[in-house]
Amino acid sequence: MARNAIATVHLDAIRHNYRLAKAQAPGAKAAAIVKANAYGHGAVAVARALANEADAFGVACIEEAIELRDAGVTRPIMLLEGFFHADELPLIDQLGLWTVIHNDEQLKALVAFAPRFTHSLSVWIKLDTGMHRLGFAPERARDLVRQIRALPKIDDVVVMTHFARSDEPEQAQTPEQIRRFRAAIEGLAVPVSLCNSAGVMAWPNAHGQWLRPGMMLYGATPFMSHNAVADELQAGMTLTSELIAVRDVAAGEAVGYGATFRCEAPRRIGTVAMGYGDGYPRHAKNGTPVLVNGQRAPLAGRVSMDMLTVDLTHLPQAKVGDTVTFWGPDLPAAEVAPWCDTIPYTLVTCLTPRVKRVYQG
Ligand SMILES: *Cc1c(COP(=O)(O)O)cnc(C)c1O
Repeated sequence: MARNAIATVHLDAIRHNYRLAKAQAPGAKAAAIVKANAYGHGAVAVARALANEADAFGVACIEEAIELRDAGVTRPIMLLEGFFHADELPLIDQLGLWTVIHNDEQLKALVAFAPRFTHSLSVWIKLDTGMHRLGFAPERARDLVRQIRALPKIDDVVVMTHFARSDEPEQAQTPEQIRRFRAAIEGLAVPVSLCNSAGVMAWPNAHGQWLRPGMMLYGATPFMSHNAVADELQAGMTLTSELIAVRDVAAGEAVGYGATFRCEAPRRIGTVAMGYGDGYPRHAKNGTPVLVNGQRAPLAGRVSMDMLTVDLTHLPQAKVGDTVTFWGPDLPAAEVAPWCDTIPYTLVTCLTPRVKRVYQG
């Protein structure tokens, strides 16, 4: 039997979460964000699972779009950062992709290429309302919409922006970004898109015509605080492996590299086939929860490349071959993340190809 480090992807949960996102804004459409291999869940599998209902898919680059088209995904695919070089435009046309434009270089290239479009497409104009990463100055919205609409083969022009702090409902930055966005498009009859997952769940007055849920599709809450919609999310992944050794360690002995866990009393230590070579974070602290046969146990000692160690002293029945769960429906990735000084996004996205993906639902 091979090494059993497995990410079980719950496609039915991902469909449930997509529907939950759309239910927050009846009448709005939602681009299912499947960039970075669907946050580690497998972009092709996730796109196929949503093939009958996703209004569009969102990816970070043309390579990710090509992977989906090659797999037979026919729904609209949006390039969230647009094209990086003008030479991508013929392929964008050939594959029938949609594109964001966020800067003047892209605008110029799009205008120059437009007469050669053979497929019609949607172009999303990104405004920088305060994130200060990508986007045009908001006051240019009116002119940009007019200019893009005048091009041939343009189906739809959408105006979008992206929030910096929508996961912090008490912060004033999101209302300020919404205010700037509204001022920029005032009087324009144009579909708009502002909301990532946290926007979908916490900022209903910003829903607009297009939602862009990412993390919530995969079942993890982006909030540190309680959110009623997030309570209804279902985990999109269960990460498991097996105990491969169990030993008694005497008081005073330490476990693992750097001896960061010292046994104050005799301890029963289990070794699990999971490490940073699988994407499990090396900086997970002592005490990070895992489930051994469904019962909680704390990480004890530093995570190494292929293995990690857990304290089984309170679980005398635990034995070699038992299942260890790192996150899933009974242990949210969002609960594990703070132990690793990170957010659930990185836990699932950083899993390496060595972890076998198994699809359910
Ligand atoms: C990744 C991304 C999203 C999705 O964000 P989540 O927080 O995962 O929901 C939405 N919009 C844009 C532009 C993105 O790049």
